[in-house]
Amino acid sequence: MTTPALSIPKVRLATVWLDGCSGCHMSLLDTDERLALLAERVDVVWGPLVDAKEFPENVDVTLVEGAISSEEDLHRIRQVRSRTKILVSLGDCAVNGNVPAMRNQFGANAVLKRAYLENGTLDAQIPRQVIPTLLPVTRPVHELVPVDLFVPGCPPSADLIFSVLSELLEGRMPNPAAKFG
Ligand code: SF4
Repeated sequence: MTTPALSIPKVRLATVWLDGCSGCHMSLLDTDERLALLAERVDVVWGPLVDAKEFPENVDVTLVEGAISSEEDLHRIRQVRSRTKILVSLGDCAVNGNVPAMRNQFGANAVLKRAYLENGTLDAQIPRQVIPTLLPVTRPVHELVPVDLFVPGCPPSADLIFSVLSELLEGRMPNPAAKFG
């Protein structure tokens, strides 16, 4: 009598795009053929290319790109944190605010005025219904929710991202600073 093959459960991986330029996601894609290796070990349950309406429960690892700039970002990161075991700040925008935080010295209203009124050429007005409401200042992820791992870089290299994911898949907590700092 043959025994049915047991399938090893895959790690449930999510990637989240907040206030960032998508460059960190591009760097993840730059792992190229190593994506096939990752695909053997993970199920991508949420991300820019995943057709899901609701961030799922019981996510093992979430990579977060981008800073927290709007009420929508804040709601998202709180939900992600509550549903994720290991939350990773991926890239300098998530780690320290980086480019999105440059607006902090001016304030949200001044930035909106500059973008939509002073630079508007036709029927200039600040949109109130289309863009999410900005927070007074942009903040890195760990200032709003606990973060388990920081992966700096703008963007972090594909090698670094692959190394971090490989370590996590082996059940080890990586130290990016020690390996690549
Ligand atoms: S860290 Fe750099 S590459 Fe990543 S989202 Fe921010 S600006 Fe883009």
